[in-house]
Amino acid sequence: MGELRQVIVPVTPFQQNCTILWDADSGDAAVVDPGGDVDRILAALDAHRVTPDRILLTHGHLDHAGGAAELRERLRARTPGAAIPIEGPDRGDAFLLDGLEAAGRQYGVPMRNVAPDRWLADGDTVQAAGRTWEVLHCPGHSPGSVVLFDRTARFALMGDVLFHNSIGRTDFTYGDTDALLSAIRTKVLPLGDDVAFVCGHGPSSTIGAERRSNPFLRD
Ligand SMILES: [Zn+2]
Repeated sequence: MGELRQVIVPVTPFQQNCTILWDADSGDAAVVDPGGDVDRILAALDAHRVTPDRILLTHGHLDHAGGAAELRERLRARTPGAAIPIEGPDRGDAFLLDGLEAAGRQYGVPMRNVAPDRWLADGDTVQAAGRTWEVLHCPGHSPGSVVLFDRTARFALMGDVLFHNSIGRTDFTYGDTDALLSAIRTKVLPLGDDVAFVCGHGPSSTIGAERRSNPFLRD
């Protein structure tokens, strides 16, 4: 297993951190949360000579998942015969993925509904970018949000669960602040202070930095 490489491509008017991950030795690669701007994602793949074989979704919000169907289609067209499965999120976000087209219309951003090839559940593992990712179901921001954790690289894909100095918003009708804080305290923080993460918006951070200074995690 080689070094884990990452490139962040901000996508959609929401500046969501679409993340391209690959193993430096094998070249195994994945795209995480392709919310839109698929041309820009494909250009970044070409610039780094990376060929992803799967797409991962941390949750079903439009800025994370709105470009997934188009990206899967265009990657399949580039590599005939390749499945390019979409894995994640948890099934609790099915209603969001079924409503992407309508949500996109609301914001004036064209997008398509998407059906994942595999739903993820707490405790599952995902093979992507040449390593094994553990699945943590962390509802609250959305019912089906998942965090993906590479225990070897000490690296997590946080989605909109935990940000640098903030947490995911919970003011949607289906939001649940208590559930989100509980998931962060019982599942995310115990991963370890040394764990670095990429989140859906804004700068990357570490679990230790957030445990010490995130105002939402004060007792
Ligand atoms: Zn979100």
